[in-house]
Amino acid sequence: MGTDRRWYCSKRLCGCKAKVFLDTDGKIEFSDTDHNHTPPLYHVTSTGNYIPLKSSAAKKREEEKQDSSQS
Ligand SMILES: [Zn+2]
Repeated sequence: MGTDRRWYCSKRLCGCKAKVFLDTDGKIEFSDTDHNHTPPLYHVTSTGNYIPLKSSAAKKREEEKQDSSQS
């Protein structure tokens, strides 16, 4: 422990740029959940920690999708 941790989406090799950086306290320091596929709600790390993968950007994208379907 005592080191920051970085998590990259398991589909990173498929071109997904989503990533989450944790600080030394295990708090999310930076998160980019801009998946190029249907994003998971949580990611379980190798240490058994659950990382919530929620972002306002994804929510905004959903709203834009709904708007465009209405018109
Ligand atoms: Zn992804």
